[in-house]
Amino acid sequence: MRLTGGCLCGAVRYALTVEGGDVADYCHCRQCQKASGAPVMAWVQVPPSRFEVVQGQARAFASSARSARWFCPTCGSSLYMTDAAGRSIGVALGSLDDPAAVAPTAHGWTSAQLPWLVLDDDLPRYDGDPPYDL
Ligand SMILES: [Zn+2]
Ligand SMILES: [Zn+2]
Repeated sequence: MRLTGGCLCGAVRYALTVEGGDVADYCHCRQCQKASGAPVMAWVQVPPSRFEVVQGQARAFASSARSARWFCPTCGSSLYMTDAAGRSIGVALGSLDDPAAVAPTAHGWTSAQLPWLVLDDDLPRYDGDPPYDL
């Protein structure tokens, strides 16, 4: 499934291919909260070979020793994450043109989930990184 997305102002556009078995999850961690200004983010992870920026250029912020968060330098939208080892790219589901196209299948970092955020699903929940994460 080929998907497209981009930032709020339209300067940065990307495309990716999502396949069955790709991991998509909510991340309740504090870094995602700070980076987005939202209570939770949701991501899909794909190999770098299945992701490309097709217009404009995102800027990176090294949010940890092993990962960088890429955002639009004009409007600030959070777009995707890369890891230092280049193993996968996490694409922010909210930045997809069709954000309903990929549904999360787990929750990560529920230890930081806000008490007023009630998500009534039966998905697996992990205190920290889900076990399949990098
Ligand atoms: Zn923008
Ligand atoms: Zn996070």
